[in-house]
Amino acid sequence: MDLERDLDERRKALESVHRKIRSCTLCPLHTGRTKAVPGAGPTDAEIVFIGEAPGFYEDQQGIPFVGAAGRFLDELLAQSGIDRERVFITNVIKCRPPGNREPEIAEVEACRAYLDRQLEIIRPQVIVTLGRHSMARAFPDEKVSQVHGQPRTVVDAASGTDLVYFPMYHPAAALHQPSLRSVVEADFVLLRQVLNGELEPESYSPPPDVEQLSLF
Ligand code: URA
Repeated sequence: MDLERDLDERRKALESVHRKIRSCTLCPLHTGRTKAVPGAGPTDAEIVFIGEAPGFYEDQQGIPFVGAAGRFLDELLAQSGIDRERVFITNVIKCRPPGNREPEIAEVEACRAYLDRQLEIIRPQVIVTLGRHSMARAFPDEKVSQVHGQPRTVVDAASGTDLVYFPMYHPAAALHQPSLRSVVEADFVLLRQVLNGELEPESYSPPPDVEQLSLF
């Protein structure tokens, strides 16, 4: 299939996923939402940023990262010469939890197939996880403080293909804890190097399942 036609098919597929998200009733969060927030950006984005969940302003507008954390993310992108229009931004869960509480496991599970499908359609060069909930998708047993800024190649269980993950702190964490600001800025410099092919991701295999091993 030629590239233009392939991209057109993928655009339609992504729009169809987003329509499903906007009318989703898979978890109770749909009852409190103003708008679901599927994500925003081009279908052929090189980078996908995955945040945690929509907040107040995102819920009002149906667009991710438009509040204070979004303004900081915009600054970080601009500083590192990455055009926001060229990246795709989404969240682990697509509807705002009441009072901006953290996502619950059942909510993340209800939304998982939407995010899997978005990544499958977009096929980004790098997936940047913002914060713990987003990082847990690829590295459930790790801490952001220990692995931020380290690109890793992971075999994706859903598609069987290699994905490059780049874990970072959530921009809101740096707003609440100013000492993290320079850490996040330094990680954006490393991200630029990954995109330029100057920093090679390490290949990552999940540690063996401890319960499985104890059976033998
Ligand atoms: N924080 C997030 O994780 N996502 C948003 O869309 C906004 C703030």
